[in-house]
Amino acid sequence: MNVKYDVLVSASEISEKIMELGVELTELYAGEEVVVIPLLRGAFMFAADLIRVMDVPVRVEFLGAASYGAETVSSGEVRLTLDTSFPLHDKNVLIVEDIVDTGLTLAYIQKLLKSRNPRSIRSVVLLDKPSRRLVEADLHRTLFTIPDKFVVGYGLDGPGGFWRNLPDIVALREETENTHSE
Ligand code: 5GP
Repeated sequence: MNVKYDVLVSASEISEKIMELGVELTELYAGEEVVVIPLLRGAFMFAADLIRVMDVPVRVEFLGAASYGAETVSSGEVRLTLDTSFPLHDKNVLIVEDIVDTGLTLAYIQKLLKSRNPRSIRSVVLLDKPSRRLVEADLHRTLFTIPDKFVVGYGLDGPGGFWRNLPDIVALREETENTHSE
């Protein structure tokens, strides 16, 4: 397949912003423990880089959420595919999300985790597509705002579940666009 794409955010821009965020979170949580919760699967790479620049005691739990069906527009339906393994009561919870599009996934996860009575709950988001927002989610930080394009790379998948290992975030050109993401 002859795939064409445009780089929207380069690996070096990503790493620079993550360093800044790591410094900010280290100050914010100084003297506290944090439970970092990446939403699988797209946020795994962002979370792996972020926790390495957070100089506070960190535990990692995973949540799986899927909102996409067989098309690039959100089905509006959020499914929990994996849940955390210990109680979040009185914990500082930091949700790590790859991209906020309609906002449905993050709003759903935030409501779910708030009901477990954490001490604090914040969400950090790598990419924001504000033009397609349907519901507001509470975003502590978003690193990059992007236009309404289907993007892959740096953890985000594209056709056939591939592309996650690309170090940059890229927009696939029309003829190669797809379909599935989780
Ligand atoms: P939302 O519920 O905000 O509409 O969708 C959020 C989820 O949809 C993200 O966690 C991500 O899995 C997926 N998603 C939204 N836009 C894109 C995109 O451009 N590329 C990829 N690979 N996934 C996307």
